[in-house]
Amino acid sequence: MASNGPMILCDSLVKIYKVQDLEVFALQGLDLVIERGEFMALVGPSGSGKSSLMNILGGLDRPSAGKAIVDGQDLLKLSNFALTRYRRQKVGFVWQQPSRNLIPYLSVEENVELPMIVAGMPYNERKAWTKELLEAVNLWDRRHHSLAQLSGGEQQRTAIGVSLANKPVLLLADEPTGEVDTSTAQVIMDTLRLLNEQYGLTILLVTHDIRVSDQVDRVVTIRDGRTSSERVRRLRDQEVAQDTDTDDQDAEAQETPAAVADYHEYVVVDYAGRLQIPREYLEAMGISDRAQVDLADDGIIVRPAQGVVDASAQAARVSEVAESWGPQQQSKDWRLRLADASRGLRGLLRQKKEE
Ligand code: ADP
Ligand code: MG
Repeated sequence: MASNGPMILCDSLVKIYKVQDLEVFALQGLDLVIERGEFMALVGPSGSGKSSLMNILGGLDRPSAGKAIVDGQDLLKLSNFALTRYRRQKVGFVWQQPSRNLIPYLSVEENVELPMIVAGMPYNERKAWTKELLEAVNLWDRRHHSLAQLSGGEQQRTAIGVSLANKPVLLLADEPTGEVDTSTAQVIMDTLRLLNEQYGLTILLVTHDIRVSDQVDRVVTIRDGRTSSERVRRLRDQEVAQDTDTDDQDAEAQETPAAVADYHEYVVVDYAGRLQIPREYLEAMGISDRAQVDLADDGIIVRPAQGVVDASAQAARVSEVAESWGPQQQSKDWRLRLADASRGLRGLLRQKKEE
């Protein structure tokens, strides 16, 4: 079923893994909208839930709660049968290891053609699409090669070809440049960009590489299973800048590649009005667990709370007092220090009584 809404809509998406008696919250109410034709990167620390999200969007895993709608299909409501069909028809997956998409004893061309044969694509269409794809990933000349004869980057490009064999609307790539050198990563990125532009393919890419994330339309950061900030690319008007500026200071600017972009960082405000303030800002302002929020003419000002001693300041005070009481073993955790301090206080009171 075709649909006109965004390609991806995640609303308060939750993923809980149950490991024996433990519940691991991999996604904790994630909100994300991806428009059709966007080329997006997802970044975030290890364990923040990136792969969990990709597996859900790829139909490889089920969400626990919330909403995940891709191309008009609600992934929470699909039957097992429908989910399998979704996985085969709607999405292409590219992994860090290209081998996950490839069969080693087949040629490049056979690998790309295989999913089409399985899907029952008619011969002529299959041959034409294979040729078009292999040209798009720049491997047509190497189509008869076996995988062992290919470099890592060529194998990844073959894997990209395989992932697109069934003409998906969405390409999910989990660290596709994670195991290759910089120049190979660039070729892979150029290939993805071309596919995005040529076919209007929506691409969601997970990466750690800042050079990679600088080349997409939008970068979303995920922390603790929630989207926490996003950067949007606004291409600088380079031609204008270069035409009007003829000073020799400009020599440096001329050398920068045309793809250089300005990013503007936005913080995600969720449905409940929560947002995550960058840690550097909080540290710079000495804000730890309370803040004062005031409305100004052109924005909202977040200041350190007045008259509230925050937890870390309290902990510092407690350890200062404890230290003045003598050479006690100090604990790193402020709660333990607090306990130390109150023990010290009780001791002091007992001493007073005995006097
Ligand atoms: P990322 O890809 O950002 O590194 P993941 O989505 O792989 O993060 O993991 C998010 C959290 O979920 C981590 O705490 C991880 O240990 C946990 N997790 C991921 N997959 C599983 C699983 N199959 N079973 C149990 N816990 C998992
Ligand atoms: Mg991962």
